[in-house]
Amino acid sequence: MTAVIINGKEIAEKKKQEIAEEVKRLKSQGVTPGLAVILVGNNHASRTYVTNKQKTCQELGMNSVLIEMPEEVSEDELLSRIEELNHDPQIHGILVQLPLPAHINETKVIESISPNKDVDGFHPINIGRMMTGQNTFLPCTPYGIMVLLEETGISIEGKHVVVVGRSNIVGKPAGQLFLNQHATVTYCHSRTKDLKVHTKQADILVAAVGIPNFITADHVKEGAIVIDVGINRNEAGKLCGDVAFDEVSKKASYITPVPKGVGPMTITMLMYNTLKSAAESINR
Ligand code: NAP
Repeated sequence: MTAVIINGKEIAEKKKQEIAEEVKRLKSQGVTPGLAVILVGNNHASRTYVTNKQKTCQELGMNSVLIEMPEEVSEDELLSRIEELNHDPQIHGILVQLPLPAHINETKVIESISPNKDVDGFHPINIGRMMTGQNTFLPCTPYGIMVLLEETGISIEGKHVVVVGRSNIVGKPAGQLFLNQHATVTYCHSRTKDLKVHTKQADILVAAVGIPNFITADHVKEGAIVIDVGINRNEAGKLCGDVAFDEVSKKASYITPVPKGVGPMTITMLMYNTLKSAAESINR
């Protein structure tokens, strides 16, 4: 079997066009969606992510505000800037680029963002809403996975989904979103015994581990759908996922590549959440 490659770049472009149309409609009602991104320090990768987010906002006709703070900024200063943004009517989404310097408590910062502007979907209130199936901002990467599958016409109900990885931003919420759509979900992590016994049962296998080429063909059932969340550099410095693409794509029925798979969806869903927040602000 040769897997169908799920083209995340193409699906992301389609979704972005839809978002841009909605932005136009909102603007005609006098509301321009606005995203504030806070960047603390000068981490090279963080700066690249933030620049991409700003660029995408502009492409879609949204406002974006970049707030840069020095590495040594105090936690209080950061919290009071977030509080200002919580009350700024022009700002519908607030994102604090992680990781933060060690002297700042990440949990405290996430919890200081108004749940109504938490477009990353990391606030415990929004996580609780997600778990109970309420209207909320879904975390962007897991949400992007669900949209990829939906756009590809893959049904989820009744499927056995195995998620390898249990981080708060990817693995855990991804499993929850599959459960919300009536999948049977197994979580695996670094203490899982006999990993392959579990992964080989997956109808849909999600790899969110952060180890290059970790999932090989012998982890995968013939015909499985394989979603690769990993963004890693291999020994040659080349971008690669958590899945050994060449061998797994010969066994899977569908597979997401790296790059151009899950990655482009994350930023797209961030834009979607910002639009949603702006639209909901009208009735608030
Ligand atoms: P993370 O916080 O480091 O979590 C990694 C998870 O993998 C942990 O739950 C860990 O288990 C598990 N793990 C580690 N070694 C394992 C092993 N040998 N067997 C089974 N499980 C193992 O990483 P993350 O933030 O979730 O990110 C995962 C990957 O996705 C990274 O490559 C990251 O760059 C990428 N990512 C991509 C996007 C995107 O937009 N495409 C967004 C976010 C992240 P324990 O919990 O037991 O430690």
